[in-house]
Amino acid sequence: MRPLDVLDKFQNVRGCAGKWVALCPAHQDRSPSLAISEADDRLLLHCFSGCEPKDVMSAVGLDISDLFYQKRTSSRLTGASQRCYAEVLQRERILVAVIDSAEKNERPLTTKEQNRRRLGQLRINKIGGVLHE
Ligand SMILES: [Zn+2]
Repeated sequence: MRPLDVLDKFQNVRGCAGKWVALCPAHQDRSPSLAISEADDRLLLHCFSGCEPKDVMSAVGLDISDLFYQKRTSSRLTGASQRCYAEVLQRERILVAVIDSAEKNERPLTTKEQNRRRLGQLRINKIGGVLHE
């Protein structure tokens, strides 16, 4: 399901350019009180009578996840946050390498260094997953 197909499920849809109003299917609505707007990655719903978006969606037989254009994945990362992740990844890799080499060449590690390395490895795995998924 593409999110704009979601609009087809509502009645009396009016509007354009990423902003619409429609009859809210989750309560007895006579004048359109459901505002729908387009955000970067999803449609936003707001019922002025206070219905929850998930109730609005289930009233037309859909799931709240149908509002999202796609599941959040690496392709949704903007250039800026991707660069930021890459920088952190780089920094943590250097840090882990420095600690590794201290252990190999100099002395046993302190608990603090061991913990820091574990944290670094954790971050590397996590960020690596986000970037290359
Ligand atoms: Zn409503």
